Amino acid sequence: MSRKPHIVILATGGTIAGSAAAETGGAYTSGKIGVDDLLSVIPEIRNLADISGEQIASIGSQDMDESIWLPMVKRCNELLARDDIDGLVITHGTDTMEETAFFLHLTVRSSKPVVVTGAMRPANAHSADGPMNLFEAVATAMAPESHGRGVMVVTNDTVFGARDVTKSCTTAIHTFQAPNFGPLGHIHAQHVEFQRKPQRKHTTESEFHVDNLNELPKVGIAFAHAGGDSAIAVNAFIDHNYDGIIHAGFGNGNFNHKVGDALQRAARQGVTVIRASRALSGAVTEAGEVDDESYGFVASGLLNPQKARILLQLILTMTRDRQHIRAFFKAY
Ligand code: ASP
Repeated sequence: MSRKPHIVILATGGTIAGSAAAETGGAYTSGKIGVDDLLSVIPEIRNLADISGEQIASIGSQDMDESIWLPMVKRCNELLARDDIDGLVITHGTDTMEETAFFLHLTVRSSKPVVVTGAMRPANAHSADGPMNLFEAVATAMAPESHGRGVMVVTNDTVFGARDVTKSCTTAIHTFQAPNFGPLGHIHAQHVEFQRKPQRKHTTESEFHVDNLNELPKVGIAFAHAGGDSAIAVNAFIDHNYDGIIHAGFGNGNFNHKVGDALQRAARQGVTVIRASRALSGAVTEAGEVDDESYGFVASGLLNPQKARILLQLILTMTRDRQHIRAFFKAY
C-alpha cells in the first residue's frame, strides 16, 4: 500500500472516555471525553495511520443496547465498503464490550479488521490504560495479518476473538480473558503476532441480515443459584411475551425441578429455551444430565449466557424451528 492505512475510530463512551474527580480516586463518570481528546494524548498514532473519528454515542456501556447496535453495524458496513478505509476501531465501555464485539462479529460484512477497545481506568487517572489500548487497537486494525479474523477485542497488549472473550474481573486492567481457548495474539511494540484464527462462522460467512431491522427479538436471561427460584424470572419472561429465554444454569446447564417445569412450559408455548451455564468455562453439552430433546431445549455449547442471548436474537430473526436453532448454535 503506497498510502498510510486509513482507520476510522467510532467512539461510544465508556471508562476510556471517563473523567475522574481525582487522578487516584475510584469515582468517575463514563463517556465524558470526546474522540478528538482521546486521540490528542497519543499524537504518535498519526505516524501509524490516517485517523478519522466519529462520536456515535457517549454512554457507559451498561446502557448499550440494540438501539445503538443496529445503527452501529450499518455505519460499520458503510465505512468498511469504502476502498479508502482499511479498518475500524470502536472505543467502548468494558462492561458490555464482549456483547457488542460478538454482535458485530455476526453482523459486519467485511473481512477488514474491526477492533473494539476500552479501558479500566478513566482517561485522567494516573497510569490510565486507555491511551495504550487505543494505540494498540489502531496497530491491530491496520495490520494486514488481522484480515479475516472477525471482530477482535484489544486490551492490555492482547488480541482476543469476539466469540471467546469475556470480562473476568470487576476492576483489574487484565480483566479480559478467553477462558476456553486463550487469546488470538499479542501486541508488542506496535507489532501484532497472531497465534491462531477464530473458529466458527463470522463476518463475511455470516447469514444474519439486520440492515432493515429497527429492533431484535426479545430474549431474557434467568440465573440459577442454590435454593433459588429462577422459575419466577422464567414465568415473567413468558408473561411479557419474550421470544426466547437463556437459562444460566448450574455446571453443564443444569436446573432444579421448579425451574425445569417453568422452562418446559415456556418451550411448550413456543418460547425458545437455551441451556447455558453460569460456569466460567467449558461447553454446555447435549448429552449431560439433561435430555434436551425430551424437554424441547437447545444447549448453548461454549457461548456464555450473554453471548448465547445475542446469537439467539439473531437466529430468531430467521427461524423458530428448534432443529435449525440447534444447527445455528453449532455453526456460530
Ligand atoms: N461502566 C463502564 C462501561 O462499561 C466500565 C468501563 O468502561 O470499564 O462503560
